[in-house]
Amino acid sequence: MTKKPLTREELDELSAGLNKVARNLWWTWDQEAQEVFQELSPRGWQNLYHNAVAILHEVSEYELKVRLQNPDFAERVRQVLQAFDAYMGNRHTWAHEHAASLRSNPVAYFSAEFGFHETLPIAAGGLGILAGDHTKSASDLGLGFVGISLFYREGYFQQAIDPNNWQTEYYTLLNPKNLPMEPVLNKQNEPLVCHVEIGMNQVAFQVWQVNVGRAKVYLLDSNRPENEQHFRDLTLRVYGGDSTTRIMQEILLGIGGVRLLRTLGIQPSVFHMNEGHAAFLTLELLREKMAAGANFQDAINRTRAECIFTTHTPVEAGHDRFSSDLVDYAMHRFRTGISAPFSELMKLGRINPQNQQEPFCMTVLALKLSRAANAVSELHGRVSRHMWHSLYPDKPVDKVPIGHITNGVHLLGWMKGTARRALRRKLTGRSATPVPPNLRAGNLDWEARVQDPEFWKLMADPEFVSDEELWALRYILRRELIEFARRRLLIQRQRLAQGDFIAFDQLLNPDALTIGFARRFATYKRAPLVFQQLENIVRLARDKTRPIQFVFAGKAHPRDDDGKRYIQHIIHLSKYSNLQGHLVFLENYDMHVARQMVSGCDVWLNTPRRPLEASGTSGMKAGCHGCLNLSILDGWWREGYDGTNGFAIGEDAHPDSVEAQDRIDSANLYNVLTQEIIPLFYARDAQGIPRQWIQRIRRAMVTLVPRFTTARMVQEYTEKYYLTK
Ligand SMILES: *Cc1c(COP(=O)(O)O)cnc(C)c1O
Repeated sequence: MTKKPLTREELDELSAGLNKVARNLWWTWDQEAQEVFQELSPRGWQNLYHNAVAILHEVSEYELKVRLQNPDFAERVRQVLQAFDAYMGNRHTWAHEHAASLRSNPVAYFSAEFGFHETLPIAAGGLGILAGDHTKSASDLGLGFVGISLFYREGYFQQAIDPNNWQTEYYTLLNPKNLPMEPVLNKQNEPLVCHVEIGMNQVAFQVWQVNVGRAKVYLLDSNRPENEQHFRDLTLRVYGGDSTTRIMQEILLGIGGVRLLRTLGIQPSVFHMNEGHAAFLTLELLREKMAAGANFQDAINRTRAECIFTTHTPVEAGHDRFSSDLVDYAMHRFRTGISAPFSELMKLGRINPQNQQEPFCMTVLALKLSRAANAVSELHGRVSRHMWHSLYPDKPVDKVPIGHITNGVHLLGWMKGTARRALRRKLTGRSATPVPPNLRAGNLDWEARVQDPEFWKLMADPEFVSDEELWALRYILRRELIEFARRRLLIQRQRLAQGDFIAFDQLLNPDALTIGFARRFATYKRAPLVFQQLENIVRLARDKTRPIQFVFAGKAHPRDDDGKRYIQHIIHLSKYSNLQGHLVFLENYDMHVARQMVSGCDVWLNTPRRPLEASGTSGMKAGCHGCLNLSILDGWWREGYDGTNGFAIGEDAHPDSVEAQDRIDSANLYNVLTQEIIPLFYARDAQGIPRQWIQRIRRAMVTLVPRFTTARMVQEYTEKYYLTK
């Protein structure tokens, strides 16, 4: 059958459609859309780091139209465009039914960082990744939602390891033209410019819009020619500079963000502060109300009624505190616009308002000026109520008004193509268990189905998916990770011009039990804990019949030398100890590396010093790939673990002394490894299948995957906090 060539109009339409899709991050969680961009230039896709906008610059308009003359390719593009239009136009979302009022008066979600995709590196870690996943699920649910953050033109740092195995940082300038963002324009079609008072100055900022499915995120950018250089550089780097830079960034985010929303005519029904960085937004809301005639107390009450706050860490350093001199300096001009004495404003950031020595704490401001506050796991809720009890001296500690909503992940954004294709095939293909009609694939709402607990329940059924199929999937995913790691390590070595290492194919073993660890190298996460019993671990790794191996990655904060020493120690072990070949450290941890690791590893290791891991989310990305968690019972894992769906290190408790904790946890870790994990993984039957291991994988898929999603989390936020005054 020959197909008619496409008309010029059809070609224009498809090409314009692809350009539109590239500028909406929806494609980052749609497999078919990614494959279309990848196919346009497979090498470019790799070299440009999976950047759809850059691919469409790489491929000329002329080439694109020539390629679209291939009827099969054109058909696939057409289907992607249809899926996109169907997604954007869907009127039957959860929020249409349950949160209609938020559609005209949206949630305004403020976060100093957002992790959407590896091509837009404006997140430093889990907080930003969570904000990105929150936004994607808000879009999926059809929630009225706008995000506010900053456009850091050098993003977060890139990590390179130097010949001494020491982390060095470098920055690359992001080019908005090559990113999925567009300038917000005014009526004259020029960049919209707003102002915020910082110090004695009026600082101008422009704005970039990022389309995240149906949601919009606005990134404020002070790099304007009318600003002095040091103000232009406020939005240079994520958490860059000293505390002066920090407070000024936070003024821009909080106060500038509210100004922008007003300029755009958006009237949020609720302001959600994702961490204390955004808490200055409350002062702008106060100012507005007082400018309209309200007195101070009245303005406070009304501001409180509009705001909610999520706290994300029990680690002290995670709570910004500024001296009153610095606040005075940075707010000098702004505060004259509020007809209340400066001393009254300072009290809003102090636990003891009378203590003039107490610094101004952003978390305190956020707690005092929100109608509701929450932590990000059950245990973190308890810890936070203790931590902030002094703010509520007349309440017993369990009545401190900080609740909790446990974090989640945006499932489709994290599920690797390989796993996604395999599962989707199960829904469309033939299997002995008939797929319930509401779960049958073939139409466009696979995205809804993948969140459905009923779908994941099917994973318990060997008639639906056999042990053999699951084990084959595990093999493919592990191999993909190992090949990725080898390629990365080759590049790392070439750059260091260090050639005295073992051969490429000796690096990692595709049959070995693979344990992954990747996170920020904050010392409380105790990356080297597993190597405390080095000789024992070496023996396990080099076992001829039941070997284990480790893949590590993670960045230390640029000023955290202790964290950098941990990295150095681990890389040193990987190069010079008997773990060589059985341990690798991958440079420059980011969302792409994360996706490779949580899918390819068999075991996802998490060793925080309890209770400092408020939630943790990387382990939630593992389950849908059949990777099992091995974790301290902290954060989310304390809620997720049920004895059958992964592995726990130690008890639901912890000793007070740090030394005891490290010793006990390290011993427990070794015990689980040798007594449970290794025997289970290598217990193969006559067909060569580890049945018991696969049973755990099934349990993880059924019990964890649909529960720890941002779809569930955003619904909880909506019902508990966004809709209730
Ligand atoms: C998921 C993720 C995190 C957060 O993981 P934790 O378990 O909270 O440490 C941090 N960074 C990246 C790149 C991630 O993908």
